[in-house]
Amino acid sequence: MRVVFNAHRKSGRWELEALEMAVRAAMHRAGATALTTLLQFPAPAAGQRDVPCACGHQARYRELRSKPVLTAVGPAETSRPYYLCPDCHHGQFPADVELDIVNTEFSPGVRRMLALVGQEAPFDHGRQQIKLLADLEVTTKNVERTAETIGEDIAGGEQVEIQRAKQLDLPIVLGNPIPILCVQIDATGIPVVKKETVGRQGKDGHPARHRDAKLGCVFTQTTWDPEGYPIRDPDSTTYVGAIETAEEFGKRIYLEAWKRGWSRAAKKVVIGDGAEWIWNIVALHFPGAIQIVDLYHARQHLWDLARKLYLNQETEQRRWMMVHQDMLDKGNVEDLVASLRSINSSNPELAAAGPLL
Ligand SMILES: [Zn+2]
Repeated sequence: MRVVFNAHRKSGRWELEALEMAVRAAMHRAGATALTTLLQFPAPAAGQRDVPCACGHQARYRELRSKPVLTAVGPAETSRPYYLCPDCHHGQFPADVELDIVNTEFSPGVRRMLALVGQEAPFDHGRQQIKLLADLEVTTKNVERTAETIGEDIAGGEQVEIQRAKQLDLPIVLGNPIPILCVQIDATGIPVVKKETVGRQGKDGHPARHRDAKLGCVFTQTTWDPEGYPIRDPDSTTYVGAIETAEEFGKRIYLEAWKRGWSRAAKKVVIGDGAEWIWNIVALHFPGAIQIVDLYHARQHLWDLARKLYLNQETEQRRWMMVHQDMLDKGNVEDLVASLRSINSSNPELAAAGPLL
């Protein structure tokens, strides 16, 4: 503050950014001092020096111990009673439970900030954001650990729900009937760091550099555009996603669809890219649903076929696509399938694959 005011005296001008930052830093220091005063817990009174231990015995008060706590207004310190169990030698700080700082030196407010920046961007980017936005010094590792701990908590909560769904122990979701409810499922490879692929083989025998993220969304549809294409209701989409097996993901997307009112949907639709694992999930969790391969993926599959039918013959590929994509886009699926089944290819890869559909 003195530096700022001296500069003002010399130049007669205010450097507002320097001023506001200096005032914030001063306010933070005052706030941290106030918090440190508030976080001094007294030693327990003579008759209250025992607390229950998880082992069933009583833990005994030993002493006051202090630890640093990084708060929303900067570094503070707490001093609180420490209890030790003479039977199992487990120590505990009941005050830490109350303050929600068990095994951490970050206050709940700071952990919320770290989780927010940690899920948005690379962890070091998060560290810089915390410095600029909150004027708090943290390390990249702090952002990583906090974000991952909170992520594990969330994943744990989801697993509890998924287990309940498995036991058909779900509460009935009440509400108005839904005309059309759609579930869409897809997967995509995401690049990961080495430790995430330990023990996993890639497709070509090299160590894997990607993991398969499975993604799903649930949305409703009530209108169509002038050309007859369905329009997704705005703001009706909820999402789930995880890196896990198809079996595990099946339960996850089933739970989401259930929460969205699958049981009271008049028309139930599952949209996929045609991959077998998706139809297996449909058979298990969404029997009776209308199964749709979305237009974009269907076009992609047609292109794949065109490239195999006319290797390196781009003009031929495009001519073939004109005819067949037209059938697809217009919904003449029976004609399209008949046409594909009648293909007599000299391409050995295609011939070996047997019937195309
Ligand atoms: Zn004990």
